[in-house]
Formats: sequence, C-alpha cells, structure tokens
Amino acid sequence: MITGVVIKSTGSWYIVRCADKLYNCRIVGKLRLDDLKSTNPIAVGDRVLFTLENETEGQINEVLPRDNYVVRQSPRKKHNVHLIASNVDLAVLVVTIVRPDVKTGFIDRFLLMTEPYDIPVLIVFNKWDIYKPKDKEHFEYLESLYTGIGYNVLYASAITGENLNLIKDILKDKTSLISGQSGVGKTSLLNAIEPTLDLKTFQISDYTGKGQHTTTFAEMTPLTFGGDLIDTPGIKSLAFNHFEVLDVAHNFKEIFEASDACKYNNCTHRNEPKCAVKELVEMGEINEIRYNNYLQIVEEVEDQNYWERHNDI
Ligand code: GDP
Ligand code: ZN
Repeated sequence: MITGVVIKSTGSWYIVRCADKLYNCRIVGKLRLDDLKSTNPIAVGDRVLFTLENETEGQINEVLPRDNYVVRQSPRKKHNVHLIASNVDLAVLVVTIVRPDVKTGFIDRFLLMTEPYDIPVLIVFNKWDIYKPKDKEHFEYLESLYTGIGYNVLYASAITGENLNLIKDILKDKTSLISGQSGVGKTSLLNAIEPTLDLKTFQISDYTGKGQHTTTFAEMTPLTFGGDLIDTPGIKSLAFNHFEVLDVAHNFKEIFEASDACKYNNCTHRNEPKCAVKELVEMGEINEIRYNNYLQIVEEVEDQNYWERHNDI
C-alpha cells in the first residue's frame, strides 16, 4: 500500500497526492472510522493508505490517525458535522475593517471552530491601503484584543503588497487552512502571495459589498516557496448546533481560563451567582464584544436544543 495525502474531494472521488503525482481514488468497502459523527468520511489533508488499480486510479483502504481536524455543522443534519480539513498547522482567517465592515461575530465563530484542537490562528486584516485613521485605530483595538487572547494578528494589503512577505514566511513549510467571508479579498491575497494559483477574483458586485464564489469544495494546493494551502470557499456563516452550551464555554479561550474561579463548575456565565467571567466582563478584563458574541452563540445552541426536545412530543 502507498501513503498519500487527500488534496480534494468531490463526493465519491478523492484526489490523492503521492510524491507529486495525483491519483483518482475511491473508497471501496468500509473504512474504519473514529466515532466522529461526520457526513463525509475523508477530509482534505487526510493521510491515507491506498492501492493502485492502474496508472491513475486507486482505492483508499485506510485513513491514518489525524493530528487534528476542523469541522463545521453539517448543512443537512444539524447534529452531524462536516469535516473541512485535517492535519493543519495553521488556520488563517482573512477579514477587513472596511469594504465590507469587520464582523467580530464571524471572527469569534471561526476561532470557536479551530479552538477544540488548539490550532494556531493568524487573523489577517486585508485592505490596509484604504483604512482611514479611524479604521487604523479600530484595527489596533482588535489587534490588541485578539493578540491578548493568544491569536496572531497582522494587517496586509493585496494591492500594495504590504506584509505579504511576512505572511509568506509564516506559511512556508506549513499546511495552512485559509478562510474568509466573500469580499474580504482572500482571492486577491492568495494570488499576490502565490501567482501560480491564478484564482478568479470578483469585483464587489453591488452595494451590499458581497462578492460571489465559484466553488464550494475545500482544496489543497502546494506553495512554490514550500508548504500547502487549503482553501475553503463557501464558508459564509458558521453555526454550532453540533455543540452543547458548555462546549461553547470551553472553547472561548479567555472565558474558559477565567471559569476556574466560577462558583459552579458547570457555570454557563450568564445568570449564575459568583460567576468570575461576568465579574471580569464588568471590570473590562474580558472584552464585552467577545462576551456578547459568546452569549449569542450560546443562545442559538440552546434555542435549537429546546425546539428539538419539544418537537419530539
Ligand atoms: P474574496 O471574495 O475574499 O475572494 O475577495 P476578492 O479577492 O475577489 O476581492 C474582492 C474585492 O476587494 C475586489 O474588488 C478586489 O479588488 C478588492 N480587494 C482585494 N484586496 C484588496 C486590498 O488589499 N485593498 C483594496 N483596496 N482592495 C482589495
Ligand atoms: Zn461563570
């Protein structure tokens, strides 16, 4: 059997890379899977054992244990998850302060997605070239917020090239997942970093500031300067109905750290007495935007569970 890396999945076929050659592979028979309830058995980034049927096609026999993985709620089954990628060294989130406006709700959801496996995150604030002084101030505010929690933050511009060499240095020799809501300039940034990618960019089409996307499958591409990039198109919003309330609490880094001092060890940091998290929010030690984003997600998760219980009757 040969070892390879899955670089793309199109449903029933998987493209597997081995020593710079690509093979079209299928799953034959049953794979031994871990107890992850995922709607897709194999993710981009998976290391697999496969056998060749001919020069270009093969069968996947086994998925090797994953170092880590990133999942999102399955669009079809709310309590199942969809594997986005596995074995990643770094997750990069592209955002911007303006055009479109920054959405901390999305940043925090992205961080909630990468946190269960402690995947290092770099948040890139793109379009630095068009930030006015007040936008730069806002950037500095968010930079200190997120670096304070333990994430890396950079500003950059796909147009003027600011900080692109630094980003390249960070990506070099790593497998990095990259995401961003449409319109933030992720495609432009990738093309500027790695011109061989030749991805299509879209002009922001209307006043809503939303762009468009062509594909929705994650795909891994090698970087000419070393490393691999897993692009994840089509992540527009992130829901967490595969989580329980305490999963949310455990994966907001600073909330989890503070929760040791809460009176109740299953504290959800809302109305419970002697809640250390709420005290720190009031003191300004835990950021209010983060706390409100936390509350919003917790409420969504709870509403969902409530309606499901009551629909069973
Ligand atoms: P994507 O949807 O995130 O892949 O975004 P695109 O790369 O398609 O870019 C969306 C729009 O933002 C396009 O009109 C780009 O020209 C513009 N854009 C991308 N990066 C920058 C940047 O660094 N500065 C400025 N001013 N515009 C940018
Ligand atoms: Zn608490």
